[in-house]
Amino acid sequence: MSQLNKEDLIHIRRHLHEYPELAMHETATHDYLLKTIESFNQEYIEIKAIPDLPTALLVYVNGSDPKRTIGYRTDIDALPVTEQTGLPFSSKNAGVMHACGHDIHMTVALGVLNWFTEHQPRDNMIFFFQPAEESENGGKVAYELGVFKGKWRPDEFYGLHDNPGLPAGAIGCRMGTLFAGTTEVNVDLIGKSGHAAYPQNANDMVVAAAEFIGQVQTIVSRSVDPIEGGVITFGKLDAGTIRNVIAGKARIEGTIRGLTQKMIEHIVDRLKMVANGVATSYGAEVNIQFNQGGYLPVENNDELTKRFIEFAKQDPETEFVETEPAMTGEDFGYLLSKIPGTMFWLGVDDTSQLHSATLNPKESSIPKGINSITRFLEYRMNN
Ligand SMILES: [Zn+2]
Ligand SMILES: [Zn+2]
Repeated sequence: MSQLNKEDLIHIRRHLHEYPELAMHETATHDYLLKTIESFNQEYIEIKAIPDLPTALLVYVNGSDPKRTIGYRTDIDALPVTEQTGLPFSSKNAGVMHACGHDIHMTVALGVLNWFTEHQPRDNMIFFFQPAEESENGGKVAYELGVFKGKWRPDEFYGLHDNPGLPAGAIGCRMGTLFAGTTEVNVDLIGKSGHAAYPQNANDMVVAAAEFIGQVQTIVSRSVDPIEGGVITFGKLDAGTIRNVIAGKARIEGTIRGLTQKMIEHIVDRLKMVANGVATSYGAEVNIQFNQGGYLPVENNDELTKRFIEFAKQDPETEFVETEPAMTGEDFGYLLSKIPGTMFWLGVDDTSQLHSATLNPKESSIPKGINSITRFLEYRMNN
């Protein structure tokens, strides 16, 4: 196959959209990506499988005069959402949908890879088709399996996320943090149950939990720099069995978000103080567990991101938008904590939000995105 044209790209995107798969189960997606990549010019490339992460795919592109190795990552998984777009190419896998636009991400990555299989890059490149972004930390798993070693270690890493709030094809970015870090937290308060009429013989954890929830609200308002900000939300509280029995246990489940790992650690420390303080004052036991499924913040590297933004601002074929950080999480933060790089947005202009059952990204963003990214990568290789 030669250069992919717009119709090819839309065909690829719609196929991927019709067959979405959940984290770590992206078998058909992997096979389709592999088949597509095998149809490209093979002269400069090497495809590598990861036996312990079977739905992942790595592609190495040999540069003509390499000074460095540039990594490009796309995620490939979908979400447990039932599609409600009514589109003719809606998901054929019941209850699963590319509601985060990773079908767009994959198509753009294939387009960029296809370009460099036809126009040998100056630097070496590594394309990483990564499973399990939405859950199960696919990027971290790959890193810990030692995938990025020797010649397979990029010197710098790039990746994008689609953004319904930006014009189709526009590139958004910012210095510093693009996505917040997230840490999940469970707090168990343990007292003593008893008859509703005899509180003196029990230790009521509904009251302790209420106190805890109230005090937690002062962490962000009183202990966090208001300019930087942070979030603590406890979205689930579970205590008691019936109205006339005092609850001996309460479980409170929440999530913490911050723009830097330092801020998250600060909030975690304060949360422990509040939980332990409430437990002491109520004579309760407390167990606090952090970090099931948390994400590091996506912290863009200063030097590389400055260069990326400079390029995007002056490139006549790129529409650039400077963005605010997003308080949602992204597992690319882990790879960027190990390898310097830049994450950016690709505008897909839609009224629906990410993770919504009606998300319908504009396909015109695909060729525009591919064009801006290949132009940036070539500029990077020549500077
Ligand atoms: Zn998502
Ligand atoms: Zn996503």
